[in-house]
Amino acid sequence: MSQVLSTSTTDREVLAEWDKKHFLHPTSSIKQQQEEGPALIFTEGKGIYLKDTEGKEYIDGLSSLWNVNIGHGREELGKVSMEQMAKLGFSSTFATFSHEPAIQLAAKIAEITPEGLDTVFFTSGGSESNDTAFKLVRHYWKLKGLPDKKKIVSRRKSYHGVAMGATSATGLKPFRDFTTSLAPDFYYVDSTPEAFKAFIEAEGAETIAAFISEPIQGTGGVHLPPQDYFKEIKAICEEHNILFIADEVITGFGRTGTFFGVEQFGIVPDLMSVAKGITSGYAALGGVIISREIHNDLIELSDGLFMHGYTYSGHPTACAVALKNIEIIEEEDLVNNSKLMGEEMLQGFKWLQQEHEIIGEVRGLGLMGAIEIVKDRKTNERFADPLAPKIVAESLKRGLIHRGVIYEGADTLIFAPPLTIDKYEINKMINILNEAIGAVKKELA
Ligand code: PMP
Repeated sequence: MSQVLSTSTTDREVLAEWDKKHFLHPTSSIKQQQEEGPALIFTEGKGIYLKDTEGKEYIDGLSSLWNVNIGHGREELGKVSMEQMAKLGFSSTFATFSHEPAIQLAAKIAEITPEGLDTVFFTSGGSESNDTAFKLVRHYWKLKGLPDKKKIVSRRKSYHGVAMGATSATGLKPFRDFTTSLAPDFYYVDSTPEAFKAFIEAEGAETIAAFISEPIQGTGGVHLPPQDYFKEIKAICEEHNILFIADEVITGFGRTGTFFGVEQFGIVPDLMSVAKGITSGYAALGGVIISREIHNDLIELSDGLFMHGYTYSGHPTACAVALKNIEIIEEEDLVNNSKLMGEEMLQGFKWLQQEHEIIGEVRGLGLMGAIEIVKDRKTNERFADPLAPKIVAESLKRGLIHRGVIYEGADTLIFAPPLTIDKYEINKMINILNEAIGAVKKELA
């Protein structure tokens, strides 16, 4: 049954009731939703800020879902969407049909990605990108006459999405435990080259299709690898004929202070999954970018139709939005701003660390950062009842949205504000955090 919406204050209540009754939220506590209704109902956004139905403003300290890289309220993207939808709302890219926005975006992606990554398969998001990558590497090895190379190796604490393959590749156990059976041939290793080598030795390189990793683990708690980790992993992959998939869904499009995260570690992957920042969230789009060698092999060895494609592989509006979004990232020098403001944010974390003995390690690269909460700095002992959710709640009261990570014994605060953020706004964020941590400490005492 439909009801008439009005903008009076009771609307909030009506919306909350409808939300509870009709809206099953992704990655949320159903109990919390039923008891308290939706936490916030957003109505608009501008720059790093979001506004809710009560007119209260919040700093979007995680760029919503690590994706609103160019910030909220960019009318330019609204304009290109309107123009593209009016001109060509949709047409197929199956059966070699094509259209201008997808072709132009594919060429632009080839220009901005590391040398050698030249060809893109479009999807609607990160999970589809990773599932595509998994099917693609297996298809590739089959064409090469090596159909037994099908195992996919990922790292513990990794997050690769929630489609069946993506969930199966995700190292964070709570995501896998949501369901019962998973896709076969997925394995997890500890984050050391030695662990990967031992795995290859035990399983046999002839059974392994690919290794997948986020350049910086995001959902797992913003974990940076040792500087040489990826060079070593890439060398092991090359030695054993194993493909390397970089999951750049979060780290792509400027997040870490370079256009792509792998640039920070001096490697070029064989395949790269992207999504999120490709459109800054203004439209749903992802992609898998493949190396020239893989593409050439696919062309040469192809034995019929490429039997994989989504209805929205290369949606015209999403591609037009992505092109404009990338243009904005370049014109406003947002990759460099991410680097500079990332340094500013890390300085802020270090200052907080001096102010609060419950802060252990702080870390970050570009505008991706984390603060560890500890009971004892020397021993790294954690509070039995993690504080991160309480700090997140105190921050929210004061107008800052960020995330707490408490999976697998963690007690971590994570941040990834829009790449447009300035010094003043970083300070504002740090000041709110300072008050939020202070409030939780007071409660402890
Ligand atoms: N890979 C990584 C590294 C991610 O962070 C995410 C989303 N947080 C995904 C894949 C999945 O992307 P999506 O939610 O768009 O399917």
